[in-house]
Amino acid sequence: GPVLAIESSCDETACAILSPDGTCLAQRVVSQDGHADFGGVVPEIAARAHLALLPGLVQATLHDAGLTAEQIGFVAASTGPGLIGGLIVGAGFGKGLALALGKPFVAVNHVEAHALTARLPGLVAGGAPFPYLLLLVSGGHCQCIAVEGVGQYRKLGGTIDDAAGEAFDKVAKMLGLGWPGGPELEKLAQEGDPKAIPLPRPLLGRAGCDFSFSGLKTALSQKLAPYGHTALPRQFAADLAASFQQAVADVVADRIEHALNMMPEAQLLVCAGGVAANKVLRARLEEVAAAHSLRFAAPPLRLCTDNAVMVGWAALETCQEAAARGLPHPDDSTTRPRPRWPLEDMAQRFTPPQD
Ligand code: ATP
Ligand code: MG
Ligand code: FE
Repeated sequence: GPVLAIESSCDETACAILSPDGTCLAQRVVSQDGHADFGGVVPEIAARAHLALLPGLVQATLHDAGLTAEQIGFVAASTGPGLIGGLIVGAGFGKGLALALGKPFVAVNHVEAHALTARLPGLVAGGAPFPYLLLLVSGGHCQCIAVEGVGQYRKLGGTIDDAAGEAFDKVAKMLGLGWPGGPELEKLAQEGDPKAIPLPRPLLGRAGCDFSFSGLKTALSQKLAPYGHTALPRQFAADLAASFQQAVADVVADRIEHALNMMPEAQLLVCAGGVAANKVLRARLEEVAAAHSLRFAAPPLRLCTDNAVMVGWAALETCQEAAARGLPHPDDSTTRPRPRWPLEDMAQRFTPPQD
């Protein structure tokens, strides 16, 4: 039967129902408000909102799909990594529902769900066969991952300070823009000159594919210092936005260039996470992929940002992989939510316990 999936690892409360072949029967996402005034996600507010939203959201999604809970085959939920309060709410709800229905519960690694999204049937022209390189760039993540199979991931590099989306949000705040800052900064940058203000390119040309954005942030704050508390001239703010965006795109393109050299077997370059929406960054990544004769794919934005469709799909792929290896249907009803859950740990799922 279909999978009912729940996402609650950050500030999106989401539920989706997918048939076993990956067709989405219904899905709903609520992006929580109530965080904007604080300029960032407040974990305690998020957890309470998940708790308030989930029961109605699950019921509404079942209704959209024209299904009763009894018709569900199994339940899945993001169980880590992420904000622990939200994970406890979502995974706890999922386990309770599964228990009540007498169906299995599958614990999904949220980052794995981002990583496998490109494989949703029909999403990427020509499909997304393994192995491929994933660039995950969101508010909380910034990493290059070699996706070699279901459960088979190798982290090639990651940020040593801020995530890319976090950098966009912080710089946007410095420029007096609203939160989340990425989309507003991109809009302002359209009026600016990306060459107007010289900014550093942290780690550019350095071996490996780690990222760093905090130096860029500091450089920007130095450009702002002379203005103190007076309002920035509009053109100056736009030039800063454009120059910052260009610096990020240059750095990310360089890091991906290195990552592709570390993974010559890659079939495809996939970009996921909210920052994948950025058009300048996307254009640069397309160039890099083309230079390596690779296809480039970025899932549509609604599947790039947090959602439950990707959670359901990752659960289906996990079940399929287990079946292919002759293992029983996974049941993770005793798996505890965890704020950290390295992707490298996912292979354990398919290795029989040693004693
Ligand atoms: P997680 O990190 O757990 O996936 P998140 O909520 O932090 O969750 P997303 O929802 O995937 O991440 O993405 C939100 C981030 O993407 C924010 O930091 C936002 O500023 C950034 N972002 C969104 N649109 C753009 C854009 N057009 N340009 C740059 N950054 C953007
Ligand atoms: Mg979000
Ligand atoms: Fe996410």
